[in-house]
Amino acid sequence: MRKKVIAGNWKMNKVSSEANEFIDEVVEKAPTSDDVEAIVCAPFPFLASLAEKTKGTTVKIGAQNMHFEDSGAFTGEVSPGMLSDLGVTHVVIGHSERREHFAETDETVNKKTHAAFNHKLTPIVCVGETLEQREANETMNHVESQVKKAVEGLSDEQVTETIIAYEPIWAIGTGKTASSEEANEVCAHIRQVIKAITSEEIAEQVVIQYGGSVKPANIDELLAKSDIDGALVGGASVEAESYLQLVEAG
Ligand code: 13P
Repeated sequence: MRKKVIAGNWKMNKVSSEANEFIDEVVEKAPTSDDVEAIVCAPFPFLASLAEKTKGTTVKIGAQNMHFEDSGAFTGEVSPGMLSDLGVTHVVIGHSERREHFAETDETVNKKTHAAFNHKLTPIVCVGETLEQREANETMNHVESQVKKAVEGLSDEQVTETIIAYEPIWAIGTGKTASSEEANEVCAHIRQVIKAITSEEIAEQVVIQYGGSVKPANIDELLAKSDIDGALVGGASVEAESYLQLVEAG
């Protein structure tokens, strides 16, 4: 059985004292079950401290982005090696906000996915359609193309370890969650895409999350679906109390 993976994405929120208070509370109260994995994806300035505080605990720390190069003249960027050196274990790649505001493309997403594995980081690759694409019935084709490009050139083992987050753009931060049926339909399609690229055995192991206005009130229904293996959560992951409720639901 696939475990449930609950990842919080704080986006550009909190200052250092708030980040540390959050993690102290979460480390103290997070349920320790082998069936659920709790990840907190925080802004770069907090990662060293959060990784230190979660060392030896069940809580994992992720970054929200990184560059794909190992090092070099890339002012303002953060390399994959810098993250893994801190004890960061996960990295969000290709979030729609980065695709929209920071020129992230399927090509850079693919490079970053490879770079993550080269530095022993687990990529959480985000895919999802706009409202216009959904209304034009392009959701499945669009998501299929994003997934295929993201995992291009990865070994079967790496595909197995990739976490895919299906986040319909129209459901992010809007309070509009995709219905659990709609979300599951796309997650199931993503699994079929992975199966076609690799094998059924691998596709059955890949963790596919849903993201978009997930909160304690709707997570149970989403996680009950056959192909939804967790959630990537923005707003409801920023406060420890609600993040812990999400992890408990996992
Ligand atoms: P919200 O949970 O705030 O809708 O954000 C979803 C998201 O973008 C997580 O990466």
